[in-house]
Amino acid sequence: MDQRWIADRMSRIDASGIRKAFELAKAMKNPIDLSIGMPYFDVDDAIKDAASKAIHDGRNQYSVTMGLPELREAIRGSIAHFGHADREVMVTSGTAGALMLAICATVNPGDEIIVFDPYFVMYQHQTTLAGGVTVVVDTYPDFRIHLDKVAAAITPRTKAVIVNSPNNPSGVVATPDELKALALLCKDRGILLISDEVYNCLCYDGEYRSPAEWNDEVLVVDGFSKTLGMTGWRLGFAHGPTQIIQEMAKLQQFTFVCAPTPLQQGVASVLSKGKLDMHEQIETYQRKRDMIVEALDGLYELARPLGAFYAFPKAPWGTASEFCAEAIRRELLVIPGNVFSRRDTHFRISYATSDETLKRGLDVLRGLAKKA
Ligand code: PLP
Repeated sequence: MDQRWIADRMSRIDASGIRKAFELAKAMKNPIDLSIGMPYFDVDDAIKDAASKAIHDGRNQYSVTMGLPELREAIRGSIAHFGHADREVMVTSGTAGALMLAICATVNPGDEIIVFDPYFVMYQHQTTLAGGVTVVVDTYPDFRIHLDKVAAAITPRTKAVIVNSPNNPSGVVATPDELKALALLCKDRGILLISDEVYNCLCYDGEYRSPAEWNDEVLVVDGFSKTLGMTGWRLGFAHGPTQIIQEMAKLQQFTFVCAPTPLQQGVASVLSKGKLDMHEQIETYQRKRDMIVEALDGLYELARPLGAFYAFPKAPWGTASEFCAEAIRRELLVIPGNVFSRRDTHFRISYATSDETLKRGLDVLRGLAKKA
């Protein structure tokens, strides 16, 4: 094939890190897989039934680009507490789709987007695709937002800051003070704040707070993948200033078109009856989080994970890549930090798995704490 058929921009997207980890996993016979960011529980039966009914009732055509009115209404209800005069809602193909639309609708070539290191990998690749540049603000070792570092990273080309709390990969949840200070800094400096809240229902030591509480122009991207256990349904949403949402909808019309209609219907029919009861799932994750903290205590340096379903300990010896290679030799799959970071010092554990798998993984990690 003629190599010129591949656009130059593709060579700027380097997905080798995570692919390498998954290639290694394929070669493993009985892997203890603590690598995947996928919920441990299945979709609620009421949602499945409603989606299946929508399919059988023939609701299989495009929805309007912005999303089914009943789903948008339910989402509107869940964000009414912000009380913002100018806050529009649209349904997207996953949080990833919302992010892609948000970045493409706002970033000009050469614009800078500030992301916190460690970061969710998509931020970098989507920014690159839009011709922008990611500027990283280091948050090691506590993974907290240090406002002076953010302020120092701002230049005349800074278009946006992306914040993600609860965080992938660290599991850390930003405090209300941190989010408030960041929200006000962005407002003061005329910078768009994009808040990725896909894990907002999964907070274990306190309630979730959004930076939109302190800045009415925050653009929020969110989704149902993680909270409702439906990563394959591709359902997300965005809310923010009407003009940005309208531009995002214009782009959605000519790319994704809409999120899957019967699946939107499935979620809408349940959400419109009120908030889904998630306490069982939250308690289960919290218990798994506690298992990790207890098992690694005194052996690994670990910022207490407060949300999502990740922990991000420091490799006790070698680089994180060397450490993860040794873990893989012992059938344990965890992801080296350099996939999410400019550093190669930490590694990500996903505890969205069974207790048995988690216990096996933690046994291996305890054995690996000291280099043989
Ligand atoms: N944002 C973060 C921080 C994530 O970890 C993920 C998925 O892992 C996404 C967005 C994408 O989620 P979705 O499945 O809703 O596209």
